Amino acid sequence: MKKPVFTDTHCHLAEPILRCRLPEIVAQAAEQGVAQFIVPAITPNDWQTLLAWQTQPEIHALALGVHPWFCETYSPQSHADLAQHLHDNPSLWVGEIGLDFHHTELREPQMAVFQQQLDLAKQYSRPIIAHNVKSLDTFTQIIKQKRFKCGGIAHAFSGSLEQAKILIQMGFKIGIGTLLLNPNAKKTRAAAQFLPIEHLLIETDSPFWRGSNQATPVLLAQIAQELANLRGMDLADLAAILAENLAEM
Ligand SMILES: [Zn+2]
Repeated sequence: MKKPVFTDTHCHLAEPILRCRLPEIVAQAAEQGVAQFIVPAITPNDWQTLLAWQTQPEIHALALGVHPWFCETYSPQSHADLAQHLHDNPSLWVGEIGLDFHHTELREPQMAVFQQQLDLAKQYSRPIIAHNVKSLDTFTQIIKQKRFKCGGIAHAFSGSLEQAKILIQMGFKIGIGTLLLNPNAKKTRAAAQFLPIEHLLIETDSPFWRGSNQATPVLLAQIAQELANLRGMDLADLAAILAENLAEM
């Protein structure tokens, strides 16, 4: 029987701690059935690294953008560069972009930078990888105001079933990660258990995990197993469905 194969739909392989031993990390993940990756950028400094990976067979998708924590790195030049890269590379996505209102002092600049990047995603018809923390109302407002309909992944989902449904209505898949491994994350575990499975994806957000920031995509094997247990599913069936969900994007 063929081993189930999974895609880590959110891992920061360009982070130095992962990039410095990438072949080893990729081999280790593949051994556990984690064979494909979606890699988002954090700042414009990552963009050239990601662009150079476009032909790698393990890459499912690459996303160029600026993370809300680092919105001050998004300049008019970055905006022009991002537009050019999207124009030149039809398979690029836009990410990781969005809002994080944990960081209240950055609220206004985050909104401005998110909107500018969303404009480009819309102009070039690309899905986005969305970071959205304590900001669902504003996020929803902006998506609707901009009439953004290209969807994407609502990454690191940490909300309730009801909040997931709002994101799904706007065309997003729900990216669930390491929170699934936390027995106290009851709301999110319930969302993972009861949402229609065609809207789910799984991710590690490597290397970021539990403050030590040394996670690697191999962790996805545990997340997949936990989701299969929660839903009473066979691992192979889960892998097939998640692959279909991705193929729709
Ligand atoms: Zn991320």
